[in-house]
Amino acid sequence: METGSGKTPLLTLKGVGDKVSKKFANLGAGSVEDLPFIIPRAYQDRSHPQPIPTLVPGATYTVRGQVMSLYEKRYQRRGTLEIMVSDGKGVLLLKWFRYNRWLKKNLEDNFPAGSEVIATGRVDTFAGQLQMYHPEMANPGDGEGQGIVPIYPLTEGLTQRAVKRAVEQSLDMVVDHFQEFIPRNVLDELSLPDLVTSIRSLHNPPAGTDVEALNRGDSPWHRRLKFGELLLFQLGLLQHRRSVRQVPGFSVESEGELENKLRDSLPFTLTGGQDQVLKEIRDDLSRGVPMQRLLQGDVGSGKTLVAFICMLHAVESGRQAALMVPTEVLAEQHFSNMSQWAEELGIASVLLTGSMGSKEKKKALDIITSGRPVAVVGTHALIQEGVDFPSLALVVVDEQHRFGVVQRLALRKKGESPHFLVMTATPIPRSLTMVLYGDLDVSTLDEMPPGRKPVQTIIFNESDRARLHLAIAREVKDSNRVFIVYPLVEETEKSELSAASEMADRYRKEIFPNLKIGLLTGRMPANEKERVMNDFRNGRYQVLVATTVIEVGVDVPDATLMVVEHADRFGLFQLHQLRGRVGRGTRPSRCILVATESVTPEAKERLAVMTRLTSGFEIAQEDLKMRGPGDFFGVRQAGFPDFRYAHPIRDRSLFASARDTGERLLDKGGNEAQNLLKSVEEFWSGKLELPSSG
Ligand code: ADP
Ligand code: MG
Repeated sequence: METGSGKTPLLTLKGVGDKVSKKFANLGAGSVEDLPFIIPRAYQDRSHPQPIPTLVPGATYTVRGQVMSLYEKRYQRRGTLEIMVSDGKGVLLLKWFRYNRWLKKNLEDNFPAGSEVIATGRVDTFAGQLQMYHPEMANPGDGEGQGIVPIYPLTEGLTQRAVKRAVEQSLDMVVDHFQEFIPRNVLDELSLPDLVTSIRSLHNPPAGTDVEALNRGDSPWHRRLKFGELLLFQLGLLQHRRSVRQVPGFSVESEGELENKLRDSLPFTLTGGQDQVLKEIRDDLSRGVPMQRLLQGDVGSGKTLVAFICMLHAVESGRQAALMVPTEVLAEQHFSNMSQWAEELGIASVLLTGSMGSKEKKKALDIITSGRPVAVVGTHALIQEGVDFPSLALVVVDEQHRFGVVQRLALRKKGESPHFLVMTATPIPRSLTMVLYGDLDVSTLDEMPPGRKPVQTIIFNESDRARLHLAIAREVKDSNRVFIVYPLVEETEKSELSAASEMADRYRKEIFPNLKIGLLTGRMPANEKERVMNDFRNGRYQVLVATTVIEVGVDVPDATLMVVEHADRFGLFQLHQLRGRVGRGTRPSRCILVATESVTPEAKERLAVMTRLTSGFEIAQEDLKMRGPGDFFGVRQAGFPDFRYAHPIRDRSLFASARDTGERLLDKGGNEAQNLLKSVEEFWSGKLELPSSG
C-alpha cells in the first residue's frame, strides 16, 4: 500500500516457488514490495523466559519448557486443544478454544511429548489453574537464534522459517526505496520514526527493545505505521467534508404543518431529547449547507420517529426523502409504520428492497424517478445503479454501523448534495465519535421514552431448560410475546438456519404444542418474513424463534421476554442490541441468556456485564476496559475501512492526533498537502469522491 508502482514478483526470491508464492497471497502479500508490511504478530524474548511459578494472571509472558502431553478435550459441540508444559519449576496449561484441523496437526507435528517449546501469550487462571490462551508457539531452533524473535502470522503450508526468510530478502531488495509520505516536521513533532526505520526495526528489533510494548503493538515503529494509515484515513474524510461543505446546498423550506399534524395524532408526546435533537436537525436543514449529522441514541430511544419527522419536512417542502436500513425486516417494519402515517397525512410513501418483484419494483422506481415528493424506505437497493432521485432533499441511514463508510457516502451522492442524517445505537463515547466519524456533526438522544423499565437479565445454563420453558409459558399467558434467538452455530448460515428451524419444530411439536410459534430466518422470501413479523406483532404468534435477522431495529412493544441461545457466542454489543428488542413498552421485561457451563472466561465476563449493566453507554465503557478478543464493538460493523495496523478503540489518541494533523496540513495547503493527497487517494482507492488534487 505504501509502495511505488513497479512490483517485483515473489518468484524472484530464493526459496519461493509457485506454491509458496500463492500462500503468501493469503497473507496479503502479492509481491516482494508487500512482504515488509507483513509485520510480526508477536515477539518472544528468548533471552529471558519466565519461570512458571512467577507468572501472574493477566499479563503476557514467554515461557520455555518441555511438552508433557498434548490432547483434545471434547464438549458437546466443540472442544479445546491443550498442551501441558513443564519448565522443571512449575506446570502450565496451554489452551486453544478456537482451532482448526491445520493448527491441530501443526501442533501435533511440531510439539510431541518430550519436545522443547517456547510459548508466548497471556496468562490467566481458570478453575484455580494457571493457563495460557492461544499462545504463540516456537521450537527453540526456529528463527534466528536468541534475543527478541519475531513471530509471523502464518497460513496453511507456510512455516515461520519460510516467512522470515522471504521477508529478510525483501528488506534487502526493496525497503530502501520506500517513500515516506508523512512530512518530516510532523514525524519530528510526534517523535515518530520514519517508515523505513520502522519497518526494519519491526522485523529485527534491536537488543534492549521493550518486548512488552512490541507485543502490545505500541512500539514507536508500530505507532508510525498506525499513524500513517490513520492520517490517510482522516485526510480522506476531512477532504470529503470540506468538499461537501463547498457545494451550495439548499434549505428545506417547510412550515412544519405535517410535523404538527403527526404530533397531534401520536398517542404520546415527544421526549425532551427528541425535541432537542429535532431542533438541531431543523436548524441544519434550514441552512443552505448540506447537513452532515450523526444521531446517536441508545437502543429504544426513539430515533425512528425523529427520522420520520425530518422526512416529513422534506416532503412538505416539495422534495423527496429516503431512509436506508440494513435489513429487509427492518425496511418492512419502518415502511408499515410510515405508510400508515403517510396515508393519514395525505403524502406518498414507497418501499424499495432487493427482493421485491420486478413489477412492484418498477412501480416504486417510477414514483421515485418522477421526482414527485415522496418518503422512501429501502435497503441497499437504494444505492444501486439506476436508482435516481431527481429531487432528493434528505437521506437518512438507520443503523449506520451496519453500513460501510463507503456505502454511506454512495447514498450521499444520489441527487444533488442532499442533507444527510445517519443514526446509530452503537454507543461510542462522545470523545471518540468526533474522531471516528470525522466528517459528521453529532447529536445525542440521551433520554428514553417515559415508563421504560430496565430489562432484567438472567443467565441460565443448559440444565435450566425446564425453568426456561416455564418462564416462556408464564410470559405468554399474559398475552406478552417472546423472542428466542439462535446465533451462527457452525460458522455457516445453513446451520444457523437449521438450528433455528429445528428448534422451532421442537417447540411446536414437543414443548409447546398449544402455543403458536413462528419462525423467522434471513433466508426466507421477503413476503414470508413480512407475514411472520406481522403475525408476531399482532399476536397471532406468541413466540418467535429467529436467527439474528432481528438483531437490529425490530420494534414489537408487546414482546417482554428475549431468550438468547448460545449467548456466549455473541459479542457484548450484539447482546445489547438483542436485549433492546424487549422493554419497549411499559411492561416489565426480561432477557434470559442461555449458555453452556464450558464457556471461555471472556464469554463469562461478557455475560456477567450484561446482567450488571443496562445502559449502552456503560456497556461501551466496559468494552473499552475489557478489550477482549471478541471485538464486540464490531469494528468492521461500525463501518470503518479495514485498518491493517490501527485499532479504532485502542489507538484512539492516535486517531485524534491524526485528525488534528490532517486539519493542519489541509489548512496549510501547498506542496506538502498535494503530495499527501496522492497517498490519500491510494489509501481510499477511489472510494471517496475527493476533489482532484492536480
Ligand atoms: P430506536 O431508537 O432503537 O430506533 P425506536 O425508534 O424503534 O427506537 O423506538 C422504540 C419505541 O419507542 C417505538 O415503539 C416507538 O413508537 C416508541 N417511542 C418513540 N418515541 C416515543 C415517545 N416520545 N414516547 C413513547 N414512546 C415512544
Ligand atoms: Mg431503530
